[in-house]
Amino acid sequence: NEDQFKKVISHAKEYGYVFQSSEIYDGLSAVYDYAQNGAELKKNIRDYWWKAMVQMNDNIVGIDAAIFMHPTTWKASGHVDAFNDPLIDNKDSKKRYRADVLVEDYCAKIENKIEKEVKKAEKRFGDAFNKDEFISTNGRVLGYQEKIDSILKRLGQSLEKEDLADVKALIEELEIADPMTGSRNWTDVKQFNLMFGTKLGASAESAMDLYLRPETAQGIFVNFLNVQKTGRMKIPFGIAQTGKAFRNEIVARQFIFRMREFEQMEMQFFIKPGTQKEWFDHWKETRMKWHLSLGMGNDNYRFHDHEKLAHYADAATDIEFKFPFGFKELEGIHSRTDFDLKQHEEYSGKKLQYFDHEDNVSYTPYVLETSIGLDRMFLAVFSNALEDETLDDGSVRTVLKLPAVLAPTKAAVLPLVKKDGLPEIAKSIIEDLKWDFNVTYDEKDAVGRRYRRQDANGTPFCITVDHDTLEDNTVTIRHRDTMEQQRVNIADLRDIIKKEVDV
Ligand code: ATP
Repeated sequence: NEDQFKKVISHAKEYGYVFQSSEIYDGLSAVYDYAQNGAELKKNIRDYWWKAMVQMNDNIVGIDAAIFMHPTTWKASGHVDAFNDPLIDNKDSKKRYRADVLVEDYCAKIENKIEKEVKKAEKRFGDAFNKDEFISTNGRVLGYQEKIDSILKRLGQSLEKEDLADVKALIEELEIADPMTGSRNWTDVKQFNLMFGTKLGASAESAMDLYLRPETAQGIFVNFLNVQKTGRMKIPFGIAQTGKAFRNEIVARQFIFRMREFEQMEMQFFIKPGTQKEWFDHWKETRMKWHLSLGMGNDNYRFHDHEKLAHYADAATDIEFKFPFGFKELEGIHSRTDFDLKQHEEYSGKKLQYFDHEDNVSYTPYVLETSIGLDRMFLAVFSNALEDETLDDGSVRTVLKLPAVLAPTKAAVLPLVKKDGLPEIAKSIIEDLKWDFNVTYDEKDAVGRRYRRQDANGTPFCITVDHDTLEDNTVTIRHRDTMEQQRVNIADLRDIIKKEVDV
C-alpha cells in the first residue's frame, strides 16, 4: 500500500540506505546512490547470492566481464532490433508514456476502487465482516474484478511484449486518458529501444558506437568457451556474474524497483540438449529455496509461469515477491535453448561447441538462466523488514527486521554511561569483534533511545557494558526482534553473534 511504500522510501533515506543520485541538483530520475548502510546491505545480498551459487557449487564458476562489449554482440543477442518498449505520445500535451504502464495504472485504479469498497464494508460490518464472501456477493466489486481479469487475460501480465495494435486498441477501448492532462488524443504506439548508446574513440571519424550493456548475460555467452577450456569444465556447468546493467526505461518509477542503472546477478547453466526440462525444474526449486532461506515469509513469494514465451525460450517462470505495491517480478528463470550461443556462432563465425568425451559428440549446449535484480532484491528485503510494532505498553517502535546475515551492522556496543571506564571496555570489545563483524559504538543519549536507534537501523544485537561488567566481565546482549536481554560473558560474544549471522 502507498503509505507503507512512502515510509520505506523515507526510512531508506533517513537511515543512510538509499539517496537520490545528484540530489543537490534536484536528482536524476530513476538513478539512486547506495549510502553508508545501503552499500553494506547490498554487498551482503550479493555475497549471499555468490556464496550460494559459486562457492557452494563445484560446477559453477564466477566471472566479471566488462560493461562495454563489441557492438556486434547486441546485434547477435537481438537487443538492437528487439529490445523495445511500446511508447505512446499525446498529441495535445506532447508528453510521452509507456503504453503498458498506462494500462497498468488503469488496473491499479480499479484495484483501488475494490479496496475502498472493501474498507467501507469492513467498517460497516465490523467483526462479522468476511472479505472473500463480500467480494463474491457484491455486484459492483465483482464488476471491477471482472474488468481487471479480462484486461490481464487479454494482454497477459507482461504487457510490453504484446502487439502494439492490441495495446493501442485497449487504450482506446478503455478510454484511458493522459494522467497529467486528462486528454485522450493519442498518436500511434511506437517502439522505443531501451539501450543507452555511447562512443569509443577520440576523433569523430574513428569513433565507434557502443552500448552500455542492458544485461550481464552476454558477457557470459561470449566467454563460454574460454571458461570451459581454461577451467576444464564438464557439462553441466554454470557461469555466474554480478554487475551493472543499463536500460533507458521510459517510465522509471517505484523507487529502486525500476532503475535506469541497476545491478543484476545472473547465472547461465550450460547443459546437454534434451535435459532442459529437468534442469528448469531443478533451478526453479533451488532458487525458490534460496529466497525462502532468508525467512522473509513463504506467503510473500509465488511463481508466475509464462504461457507466452519469447521466441528463444522453451520455458520461463518469474519468482514474484509481494512488494508494498503488490506481487511483482523479482527473478526470472528461463530455459533459453541454444539460441544465444548459436547467434554468437553465426555473427562471429566462431564455433562455440562442446566436445563430450563420454558420448564422443560435439554440440552447442542449451542454456538455463537464473537472473535476479540486486536492487529489486534490496527493495524486497528492506520493505519487508520495516515494521511499526506496537509494544505491550502501547508505545510504537520502528524496527527494521533485516535477516541477521544481511544486516549492515551486526552489533552496537553501548557503554551505559560515559564514565567509570565503561567506554574503554566497550571500545575494547569493538576492537576484538571487528575482525569478524561490522560493529559500531554509540554512547549518545539514554540507553533506551540508543536501542531504538539501532532497531530502526536493523542492527540485530546491542551489547551494553555496565558497572557489573567491571566486576565479572559480563555484558547484556539484547536481541532486536524479541527485545530479550541476556547476561553473557564478553568472551562468548563472538560465538553468540556468529550463530545468528553465519549462513
Ligand atoms: P521487467 O518486466 O520488470 O521490466 P524484465 O523481464 O525486463 O523485467 P529481465 O530482463 O528478465 O527483466 O531481467 C532480469 C531481472 O533484472 C529482473 O527480474 C529484475 O529483477 C531485474 N531488472 C530488470 N530491469 C530492471 C530495472 N530497470 N531496474 C531494476 N531491476 C531490473
